[in-house]
Amino acid sequence: MKKFSLTIIFTLILTLGLISFANAAALDSQKDKVQWLGHSACLITTEKGTNILIDPWITGNDTCPINKESIKPDMIVVTHNHFDHMGTDIPYFVENNTNCMVIVQNDVVQALKDLGVNDNNIITGGMGLNFGGQVEVKGIKITMVQAIHCPSAAGYIIEIEDGTTIYHAGDTGIFAGMELLGNLYDIDLALLPIGSIFTMDPYQAAHSLNLLKPKKVIPIHYATFPVLVQDATEFVKLSKKIAPSVSIKVLKPGEQLELNEK
Ligand SMILES: [Zn+2]
Repeated sequence: MKKFSLTIIFTLILTLGLISFANAAALDSQKDKVQWLGHSACLITTEKGTNILIDPWITGNDTCPINKESIKPDMIVVTHNHFDHMGTDIPYFVENNTNCMVIVQNDVVQALKDLGVNDNNIITGGMGLNFGGQVEVKGIKITMVQAIHCPSAAGYIIEIEDGTTIYHAGDTGIFAGMELLGNLYDIDLALLPIGSIFTMDPYQAAHSLNLLKPKKVIPIHYATFPVLVQDATEFVKLSKKIAPSVSIKVLKPGEQLELNEK
């Protein structure tokens, strides 16, 4: 009798264990994710399945491990009109994905139209957005913020459906206003350029963490061109010293971070 009870208890424990394992696996597939596609290109996939593609330099980006056909963006966010950010695939994405909206700074709109993108697919009916402006697209709130690079260069604060907030800095040097961004927005993840020459170098990027106060950071915009910093070693070393509370996530192009992960 005792042996029989023990068998039942053991079976129960095993069954419950298997159920919770299956649930955990199911939950995993629904988490918010950010995939680095090399250089400045990043793909956010929310737990609701919304795909936000930032700086879509896919074709021609030798570090991007996937092709444009495997990306199904609901919206595309462009930080500025340089080839390594705008790319040439936007017309393809817009034609092949229903109501795919492109979010750009006002001065970049004409370049998009020259590529063949029409007003219906450009935010605010073809006018674009300017600094401080916020739009809501398919439940995603996108705010354009300053970047120090070229006149139309922007960064973006992206708040997804569950409130998780992601800052993509675009191409920028460090600037004092980053402290204001850190005060105004509760940044869960910062995507920061560290490659130097055209953007912040590892030293500035590490110091920017103290201004932005994100919970996590993924370094981007390095190891693509020979003139850029070739790995994240220095950035990691400096960040651990300068901003020890920030969790640093170094990805290889194609790898993704689950945002709910510690
Ligand atoms: Zn760039």
